[in-house]
Amino acid sequence: MSDLTRLTAADLADKLAAGEVSSVEATQAHLDRIAAVDGDVHAFLHVSDHALDVAADIDRRRSAGEQLGGLAGVPLAIKDVLVTTDMPSTSGSRILEGYMSPYDATVVARARAAGLVPLGKTNMDEFAMGSSTEHSAYGPTHNPWDLDRIPGGSGGGSAAAVAAFEAPIALGSDTGGSIRQPAHVTGTVGMKPTYGGVSRFGAIALASSLDQVGPVSRTVLDSALLHDVIGGHDPHDSTSLTDAWPSFAAAAREGASGEVLKGLRVGVIAELPDSGFQPGVSASFRAALAAMEAAGAEIVEVSAPHFEYGVAAYYLILPAEASSNLAKFDSVRFGMRVNVPGGTVEDVMAATRDAGFGDEVKRRVILGTYALSAGYYDAYYGSAQKVRTLIQRDFDEAFAQVDVIATPSAPTTAFKIGEKVDDPIQMYLNDVTTIPVNLAGVPGISIPSGLAEEDGLPVGIQFIAPAREDARLYRVGAAVETLLVDRWGGPLLDRAPVLGGTR
Ligand code: GLN
Repeated sequence: MSDLTRLTAADLADKLAAGEVSSVEATQAHLDRIAAVDGDVHAFLHVSDHALDVAADIDRRRSAGEQLGGLAGVPLAIKDVLVTTDMPSTSGSRILEGYMSPYDATVVARARAAGLVPLGKTNMDEFAMGSSTEHSAYGPTHNPWDLDRIPGGSGGGSAAAVAAFEAPIALGSDTGGSIRQPAHVTGTVGMKPTYGGVSRFGAIALASSLDQVGPVSRTVLDSALLHDVIGGHDPHDSTSLTDAWPSFAAAAREGASGEVLKGLRVGVIAELPDSGFQPGVSASFRAALAAMEAAGAEIVEVSAPHFEYGVAAYYLILPAEASSNLAKFDSVRFGMRVNVPGGTVEDVMAATRDAGFGDEVKRRVILGTYALSAGYYDAYYGSAQKVRTLIQRDFDEAFAQVDVIATPSAPTTAFKIGEKVDDPIQMYLNDVTTIPVNLAGVPGISIPSGLAEEDGLPVGIQFIAPAREDARLYRVGAAVETLLVDRWGGPLLDRAPVLGGTR
């Protein structure tokens, strides 16, 4: 493997700025890596055929003395939920096969403007519905730690690309955990920003009140650097916050010293049941907390009695919003059309949606349409919204006592491909600790906490902060990362078997 693919985005950016390597060399190294391993991993749905031209342009501008952004010349993988003008955007669905967008998602436009080099589009569960990437219409992605296992979902492609050193950083989207849970099972870092902190314009909508775009990386600093590029107000997104955000990279750099842990109040949720969590996940979580405590943090039990109803409320709110958002795939405006000779427009619509949507999408459209139907609105959707408010209040009360809340990022390590795909409830329960964060609109980050003893697979710890305190998560995340990587004697990913390491 070329050394260039082993570098963090921050280190690669430094070498590019110093003229030690060119973007063409860095981009070529990643394209070679993709060619070498993606047949096994299947992180990408599409690899850009002009990434080298983009890289050459950055190199030319740099040699001409142009002032470039901090990450200029660094390759980037893009989840296929984000629309791009130069590559197809399918959201993992057959109904959008080959679809070319007339515009770029704001986050993509910002990444391009900052000089990042798009490598390709990454695989995902269809319309971001799932926790394993098995619901992709284009076949599953494989976890670089064990190719028989899932890389998480829905953003399994972005997480696997970063974990397999096919890309230094990637963009993801997180509606109920799709950035954080893949990070957990692949030993990577994933951040879901405060709702409204990053533009959703051009992110193919799943559930608009929950969706957030965010960074995926191997280090906390790299996520912060990418967040700095993509974040901030966007007039094209009506829910975009107008805040002036601090530099997240500065926060991550500041946090790395570990000072922030002294006196930091870390909340653990009293009501989070130990049952349902794999022993190795609980053990890794407790060990990380103990390390933080030894470094000066105070672990405080907080009560969040409604946290456990998050999944139930989410599976009413999400399908309701999704059924409405997906109504636009009507065979007229976007993508696929199945012709029905002699049929009405409704026949064509029905045949197209039948052929174009997979089972999980159909399941959720049916659920959502039912939950929103006149006689049931109050009983289901209305009640779920009330639960959502109670969860938000739980967080408000907890954050009156602590600076951050910590949970395991997901209940189990990567499961086997095929193990849960036919059992929606088991699949849904993967997001028990990530979903409440989306329901409350607050930021959450997952960083590696270690390997589970029983299977040697990665485990993540999630930190949650109050809305708008994304910088706090980068500070704390970087501090905990330094603490744990020192203990391991090097990054966890050095031990991923597909990369030649030994668990
Ligand atoms: N796994 C969750 C779901 O299936 C979350 C998906 C997401 O965050 N996009 O809805």
